[in-house]
Amino acid sequence: MLSIDLSGKRALVTGSGSGLGEAMAKTLAQAGARVAVHDRGKSAAADAVAAAIRQNGGDALAFGGDVSRLDDMDALFGAIDQAFGGLDILINNAGMDGARADCAASDPSAWEKTIAVDLFGAYYCARLALQRMLPQKRGVILNITSVHEFIPWEGYSAYTSAKAGLSMFTKTLAQEVAGDGIRILALAPGAIRTPINADVWQDPKGLADLDEKIAMGRLGEPAEIGNVAAFLVSDLASYVTGTTVAVDGGMLIYPEFRHGG
Ligand code: BGC
Repeated sequence: MLSIDLSGKRALVTGSGSGLGEAMAKTLAQAGARVAVHDRGKSAAADAVAAAIRQNGGDALAFGGDVSRLDDMDALFGAIDQAFGGLDILINNAGMDGARADCAASDPSAWEKTIAVDLFGAYYCARLALQRMLPQKRGVILNITSVHEFIPWEGYSAYTSAKAGLSMFTKTLAQEVAGDGIRILALAPGAIRTPINADVWQDPKGLADLDEKIAMGRLGEPAEIGNVAAFLVSDLASYVTGTTVAVDGGMLIYPEFRHGG
């Protein structure tokens, strides 16, 4: 039977104390990877996710650090070196939507913070990961973008700019290291039921509006992202690099064009 086998692989999933990161950390561990669960400030949430993985027979440790701080990320990768002796898989998942504000009324420091977390954070971690992957000539980096890598979103210009930037970052890195046994990919989730958008899906009107934007007519579940992520970082996807895989229930196929036009 075909199965996803990540045994012997050492993985870091940033922002895995909750939401998509938690689901991906758990799925990778289920597939046999040793997982570094990470959350800003080594929170109780990261400890709980790592403990849940271990209770399930998996291998995980919890780590902390602010992805938008280079010194924190240096320390995080140093701690993972000590614990795991290296890294084979990085999932750049930590991110934030930021507060909604149209450009003219936006707060520059809030804009900068979103770019710092969503784009600089991925850059810092990719840089540190590649320093470890290049000598071993093996590795995978999966950047979690969003359908907003493609779809504009009023009031979220920092977020959409960061995600579109992360897409081009993915392609450029893939080109840089394709000859070194390293794959760089992006996964673009649509609307998935996580804490990041809970204010929308917990509100019946918000949920109905969101469902209309999805061809399949329902939100995704975190495990549906975890499964695709585990496949993409596995050797089953050995010929896939430099591209974005959308996991969005058809948000990107313009469901509003089923009628009219
Ligand atoms: C955002 C969610 C949003 C979804 C669909 C994601 O990138 O983080 O808040 O619901 O896109 O718009």
